[in-house]
Amino acid sequence: MELIIGSHVSFTKDDQLIGSVREAISYNSSTFMFYTGAPQNTLRVALDENKTKEAYALMKKNNIELKNLVVHAPYIINLANIKNFDFNIKFLKEEISRVESLGIEKLVLHPGSHVDVGVDVGLKNIIDSLNMVLTENTKVIICLETMAGKGTELGKNFDELKTIIDGVKYKDKIGVCMDTCHLNDAGYDLTNFDLILDEFDKKIGLKYLKVIHINDSKNVINSHKDRHENIGYGTIGFDKLIKIIYHEKLKEIPKILETPYVEKHAPYKEEIEMIKSKKFNDNLIEDILK
Ligand code: FE
Ligand code: FE
Ligand code: ZN
Repeated sequence: MELIIGSHVSFTKDDQLIGSVREAISYNSSTFMFYTGAPQNTLRVALDENKTKEAYALMKKNNIELKNLVVHAPYIINLANIKNFDFNIKFLKEEISRVESLGIEKLVLHPGSHVDVGVDVGLKNIIDSLNMVLTENTKVIICLETMAGKGTELGKNFDELKTIIDGVKYKDKIGVCMDTCHLNDAGYDLTNFDLILDEFDKKIGLKYLKVIHINDSKNVINSHKDRHENIGYGTIGFDKLIKIIYHEKLKEIPKILETPYVEKHAPYKEEIEMIKSKKFNDNLIEDILK
């Protein structure tokens, strides 16, 4: 089976999904992830069904499977603190139906930050919100992302994610998105990823793992910072990331790069090339700028 790898791409008002597919193809990706609008706001355009169909045709030609595509929910949604409860619920419901009408299954969501209500109340707020949003008929799987633990972020360890999943009624509509930078920054040592997978399997269950964000980190383990670095140029390093990307148990899971642009140039084509060749490119930055 071919490696399922891609990156974050844009989704614009005019081109919509066709533009995202074209961008992914330009990086030689076999999947991709996008925000349906700006991540920091909730302004969203109406979806054009013809454009979606055209995008599907282009995907088919390029062996990109719909089941591997990922949408990232805007990070202003915060289910852990109920200050904007009605707004959050309404927007997340709308986002789910947008993702469903694109035919996409995986929706990545940051669990949220408790701000000032504490971990336990924060986790309960997330559970209550998810139970208000998910129904028997929901077609998407909300993939809770593992977080770095910056500020009051929740989902910084598998225990918190387990607590949330335990409380969710429709468990087939919930999953997890691991982020390698976040795991490192939250204190997980990626040197032996098998140990991490074992812990995840024991506490949550491997079948809940739906997406992996592949990023290096600018900061040391347990720094709680969340600053992504280009593949092989951070504190995690190329070899550990390659082991994760090619792990036997993760074959069917889409891997998404969210590494930083280099002087306004997307690094993904060169990073994917490096990953496919399994050989570290110490000229990556120069190659990206070329
Ligand atoms: Fe994220
Ligand atoms: Fe991420
Ligand atoms: Zn991040």
